[in-house]
Amino acid sequence: MSNIVLKNVCKSYDKEHYAVQDFSLEIPDREFVIFVGPSGCGKSTTLRMIAGLEEITSGELWIDGQLCNYVEAKDRDLSMVFQNYALYPNMTVYENMAFSLKIRKQPKDEVDKKVHEAAKMLGIEHLLDRRPAALSGGQKQRVAIGSAIMRRPKAFLMDEPLSNLDAKLRAQMRVELAKLHKELKTTVIYVTHDQTEAMTLGTKIIVMKDGVVQQADTPERIYRHP
Ligand code: ADP
Ligand code: ADP
Repeated sequence: MSNIVLKNVCKSYDKEHYAVQDFSLEIPDREFVIFVGPSGCGKSTTLRMIAGLEEITSGELWIDGQLCNYVEAKDRDLSMVFQNYALYPNMTVYENMAFSLKIRKQPKDEVDKKVHEAAKMLGIEHLLDRRPAALSGGQKQRVAIGSAIMRRPKAFLMDEPLSNLDAKLRAQMRVELAKLHKELKTTVIYVTHDQTEAMTLGTKIIVMKDGVVQQADTPERIYRHP
């Protein structure tokens, strides 16, 4: 069964033009879908509509067979990772990671187990007592990803999660993300400018331009040399 389906989704912020127009896509379970295209082509808007952070002007969004246009973000069972980390500055790494489970009233020992599991997976166990200000960019991004995977959501939505990192860290995190995708057996929808990320991580590439999907295909076919 298809996990996430967009049918003729449109977004207009103003009456004059569409930021996203007639976006249709079926995302099966476990796909790693990458949105690429020039700045302003509607990648973030599409991701934010799927997340529930932006209202859909027309069209339909289905998640696991449920029409979700009017389902609140917190009820969509999706996790979002942004390029600017979005960590709580006054909480430790441990508390940041535990937060989404704590507010859902999960038992403390279970939360504890999950935090330690995720921290181990991401190599940040030694940082659990620190606050975000005492972390490097790469460490912060690991914590943000760690926080996102705690709930085991239906899908991860990532908006340029690596673009603030230097080249070396970016390469390292690419490997980590590929590993996580494999281990968690989950769906990822990912926005990037970086062709290497698109080629190495993506199972499907969506090329957008001026709010419209221009191409949707495997990385091999999109980036094949003529
Ligand atoms: P991308 O992520 O591909 O850079 P965006 O989805 O951010 O593109 O933007 C798509 C279009 O929508 C752009 O023309 C942008 O200016 C416009 N846009 C994005 N967010 C808003 C907003 N909050 N209000 C009005 N226009 C917006
Ligand atoms: P409370 O918030 O009720 O004071 P604690 O801070 O004592 O609770 O933590 C409760 C559980 O969370 C403990 O089982 C502990 O293992 C775990 N925990 C809390 N902070 C950390 C941390 N920095 N590193 C590892 N585990 C932690």
